[in-house]
Amino acid sequence: VIEIRDLHKSYGDLEVLKGVDITAHKGDVVSLIGSSGSGKSTLLRCANLLEDSQKGDILFKGEAVKWRGQGLNRRPADPKQVLRIRTNLSMVFQQFNLWAHMTILQNVMEAPLTVLGRNRGEVETAARAYLAKVGIGDKCDAYPAQLSGGQQQRAAIARALCMEPEALLFDEPTSALDPELEQEVVKVIKALAQEGRTMIIVTHDMKMAHDVSDHVVFLHQGLIEEQGPPDLLFGAPKSERLRGFLSSTS
Ligand code: ATP
Ligand code: MG
Repeated sequence: VIEIRDLHKSYGDLEVLKGVDITAHKGDVVSLIGSSGSGKSTLLRCANLLEDSQKGDILFKGEAVKWRGQGLNRRPADPKQVLRIRTNLSMVFQQFNLWAHMTILQNVMEAPLTVLGRNRGEVETAARAYLAKVGIGDKCDAYPAQLSGGQQQRAAIARALCMEPEALLFDEPTSALDPELEQEVVKVIKALAQEGRTMIIVTHDMKMAHDVSDHVVFLHQGLIEEQGPPDLLFGAPKSERLRGFLSSTS
């Protein structure tokens, strides 16, 4: 579904991604791990075109992003394509980013109504079903501030699902949560993995990465240092850096 080839990204003089390749086929769960500042969030933001990149290709369902300009002036050329890709790669952020002045139900319904222009009745039915699926069907009329962090994050996941995206991109979905609330969210992510959702997950939670992933990528200073199936990557890490990283997180 998503293919990233030789992606380069700089902020001014700082080269954050130095040629990264990542592929997530349909149904794949790919986890991205690595130290703070290694470029994990940047990679996700480049993948759904929230951020420009200077070199390399991004393909969505085999369709390459069209660019105009070069290097620091490179931008996506086709706004319709950008919208299509962005709405099909729904992001879930560490800080939930729910709208405080809207109820949970309104939060989940908002983008399908305004961005996709879908029918209100259908969207409401779907939104209620997704909220029930993540275990907070009784919170439709509550406001975000009335929910626990774990419940807010599950609402954010329901909101992403309600866009009916081809893939979900998670940026440290459990990092802002207390350990006991973290597990509620991990459970939802595991269930999504089991039903064959395509996902790219940036996480510091090595246990979750081990349990849900088909493929794990260890990023170091903007390059892939090592990658592989979770049993191998966590069980028999080859690079010194990955071994050091894993021992620092356990
Ligand atoms: P963390 O685990 O802390 O979330 P990360 O792997 O997600 O780290 P990124 O957020 O992708 O790292 O940042 C990679 C590098 O890019 C860092 O050195 C960061 O300071 C820099 N960076 C990120 N966003 C910007 C920005 N908007 N402007 C300038 N530099 C940035
Ligand atoms: Mg980050």
